[in-house]
This record gives sequence, structure tokens and C-alpha cells, in this order.
Amino acid sequence: MIIKEQVQGSILGAACGDALGMPTEGLSYQQIQDAYGGWVNCYKKPIHRSKKPGQWTDDTDQILLLTETLIEAKGFDVHHYRHKLVEFARKFLDGKIPNRGYGRTSRTAFRNLVNNIIPSGGNSPSCGAAMKIGPLGLFYADESLEKICEYVQLCAQITHLHPESISGACAIAVAVATATKPNSTIPEILKAGIRAAAQIEDGIAPHLKVVLKKVQNSNQPLFRILKTGFSAKRTVGICFAIISRYPTYKDAIEHAINLGGDTDSYGTMIGSILGAKYGISCIPELWLNGLEAKPYIHSLATKLYETILKVKNHYNH
Ligand SMILES: [Mg+2]
Repeated sequence: MIIKEQVQGSILGAACGDALGMPTEGLSYQQIQDAYGGWVNCYKKPIHRSKKPGQWTDDTDQILLLTETLIEAKGFDVHHYRHKLVEFARKFLDGKIPNRGYGRTSRTAFRNLVNNIIPSGGNSPSCGAAMKIGPLGLFYADESLEKICEYVQLCAQITHLHPESISGACAIAVAVATATKPNSTIPEILKAGIRAAAQIEDGIAPHLKVVLKKVQNSNQPLFRILKTGFSAKRTVGICFAIISRYPTYKDAIEHAINLGGDTDSYGTMIGSILGAKYGISCIPELWLNGLEAKPYIHSLATKLYETILKVKNHYNH
């Protein structure tokens, strides 16, 4: 049974990872070193965008939206979620919500949602579905892998239709769910994630296996052996590779945000998984306290936990 500290750890751990990766997003390993004078291990003012240290991006935006949906509908309800997304998209397209860095696929989906075009999802293999899916893994942690992947598919395809996007989201959701199990080991978490990715035809499971093997058979620094990028395949592969080499929350996040590429999304996904495994106490105080809107995110995570508990008790009686 999932505990409160794990739900808080996963959601706040993801938001901190996102905010830590925000200033380094899109830069290469060397550019990060040059821009910030060496290893980044705290919130920074980005050199290339107008944001403050500790601010998060579209990844956390979407995690919070999904978490609110799960609380309000007491589980995943596709109509409720679609409705929330339409409301969000309308405000976003009217410029009433700041653009925290949405990619092309999400922006296409927002336009389709507002104009009632079906299917609404964009069709490029981005990681937009994987980065936001953590809360679904928390909510359905006790369900079978197949059942979790069914929910993931329903959730992901509203914004992301590409099989690699959906496969990546399955990998992250099931890794999060497995991480909540008492005594689950890192290899078990990653293996379950790969099995989940394989539920989707033409997904990213073969790539995840190759990347993990490559990292496990090498002593080279990760920036020398991993190709960075923004697709679900690259980003989820990088997250799994980092976790396999650096299994603690702080180490993994630091290596993720210094690697280069889609650093905020690596931080979000790694934070979702390892925050769920170790609980909120694994997040350094400095990171927690410097996070934008920390009280709101903390209370939302607590509410999500209480909702999970309520729904469970309802079915057990
Ligand atoms: Mg982002």
C-alpha cells in the first residue's frame, strides 16, 4: 500500500527535477559547464530564457493538471480530463496562462481540443505524455501492469498519438507504480518499465534495453555515451540509464540536469520515479524550499494521497 511520503515525494520530486533542469534545457553538456561555471546542483537563473530560479516548466504544469483531475474525478475519467484540458488549452491559446515551454505536439493538441477536432492528439514521438504521467502510476500502483497501461493509453492519446510517445508514458507510469512497492529494487523498477513499454506495438522497449546494456557495459561518463534529444525514446532511455547508474534521488537529478538536451523532462521523470521510491525525505531541503508554489504542490500531493486512500477504503467495504 502506497504511503503519503511516496506520493508527496513523487510529485514534489518531479517538480524540483523540472525546475532544476529548466535553466539547462536545450544546452549541451559543455555549454552547461561554460554557462554556469561548472556542475549545476541548485536552482539557477537561466541564461537563455526569462525565468526565475526555482520556476518549473510545462512538465509540472501538466503533472498538476493531471493530479487535479485524479482528485476531482476520484480516479482517471477520460471525459473529465479532456474537459480540464480544453479549459486549460482555451486559456493558454488566449494568452491567459504563461507558456512554460510547450512543444509543438502539445500546442497542436491544444488547438485541436479547443476546436473539437478528433482525434486531438499530435502525432510526433515526443515525451510530452511520459513526462506528465507519474500521478497515474501513483493512483493505480496496486493495479496490474496491463491495467495501468490501459489508463495510460486513454490519458496519453488525448494529447499524444504516436506509439513511441504512448509507449514511453507506459514505461514511466509502471516504473513509478513499481517504485512504490516496499523493497522494490532499481533493476525491478526498470525491468517493469521496459515490460510496460513493450505493451505498445512499435514502442520504445527495444531501445530501452539497448541503452541500459550500453551504460551497464561502460565506465565512460554518461555524456560521452548517451545521445541526448527530446523524443520519448531518447528521454525515457536517458532517464532509465541515469537511474541504473545513479540510483539515489539527488545524484540522479544532478546527472540528468547536467547531461544536456531535454534536461527539465529528464528531471521530471526521474523525480517521479525516485521520489516515489524514497519518499519526500530524499529531496534536499534547499531544493524543496526554493521550489515555485511549493505549498500548493505539497497540499495537492497530500490531497491525491487522501483520495487514493478514500477510493481504496470505499472498495474494501
Ligand atoms: Mg519542459
